[in-house]
Amino acid sequence: MKDYLLTTNDLTKRYGHQKAVDRVSVHIKKGAVYGLIGRNGAGKTTFLRMVAGLAKPTGGEIVLFGCRGKELENIRTRVGCLIEGPGLYPGMSALENLRTKCILLGIHKKGYEEELLSLVGLSHTGRKKAGRFSLGMRQRLGIALALVGEPDLLILDEPVNGLDPQGIVEVRETIQRLNQERNITILISSHILEELSKIATDYGIIDHGSLIQEISREELMERCSERIEIAMEHPERAIPVLDRMGFKRYQMADKEHIYIFERLEESAALNMELAKAGLPVRSIGVTSEELENYFIQLVGGEQNA
Ligand code: ATP
Repeated sequence: MKDYLLTTNDLTKRYGHQKAVDRVSVHIKKGAVYGLIGRNGAGKTTFLRMVAGLAKPTGGEIVLFGCRGKELENIRTRVGCLIEGPGLYPGMSALENLRTKCILLGIHKKGYEEELLSLVGLSHTGRKKAGRFSLGMRQRLGIALALVGEPDLLILDEPVNGLDPQGIVEVRETIQRLNQERNITILISSHILEELSKIATDYGIIDHGSLIQEISREELMERCSERIEIAMEHPERAIPVLDRMGFKRYQMADKEHIYIFERLEESAALNMELAKAGLPVRSIGVTSEELENYFIQLVGGEQNA
């Protein structure tokens, strides 16, 4: 069995008759950056709040670091979260904000706050008050605050929402650094798949409270990457031709399509070889699916709830 840091089994949250989260089962490996993708109102925040211990599930189960039920209370300090905006004191500097949180948690380590500031790229902010920070700086300070106490899991709810491109890059780099250098597992939500595509190692796609798909980065890239797409009857009959030509990275997509993920410039030659083998091709061409289209095709094209 895989080494999962967090799994949920049929996790559910009802508000009256509405199921904000409906039997969601995720599988998050240790060391992953898990992107929870869904439109506004899909249930992301509610799901993250339950995992963080801020909302009580009405059904299902959370297994975190091997603990479940009441045991979860004992491991809360191993989870850091930034949900629904960072709780900053606007009249304080970044350092003072961090110091206050450390005092609250009883952490007294020399140079600790400075180290966290450097980790999120805010060492240079000096006495500037957090209330005067840009949105991106505030988010990074929020992340630093969530890191107080050395969590093994960091939960970030739409941390790049509303940021300008530069802010997005900075937050993204911070997240990547935390994951790679500190080996922190990260659960991060967004309504834009593309936005997480540079950092997420796994994805959970959620819509109307239900998890529609869990997919690894490799699988997603494979589905969206550039490929030769061949439409023909009985595509399995093309396999000997592909093998003879030395193609290795191909896939029977469905009963009428084959995808080939290499040597894209050879589609014409391939067409000829298939014709020679008596296998008529209905169409052949190089295509790629945009990540965002993939997401829309999964959840349907309707407007945000
Ligand atoms: P957003 O990005 O807009 O925050 P989301 O994917 O995080 O969306 P949630 O905030 O989890 O979605 O909301 C899911 C559904 O649950 C929504 O229809 C919302 O109106 C409803 N909901 C969330 N919190 C409550 C609450 N406290 N009481 C009643 N309904 C709620």
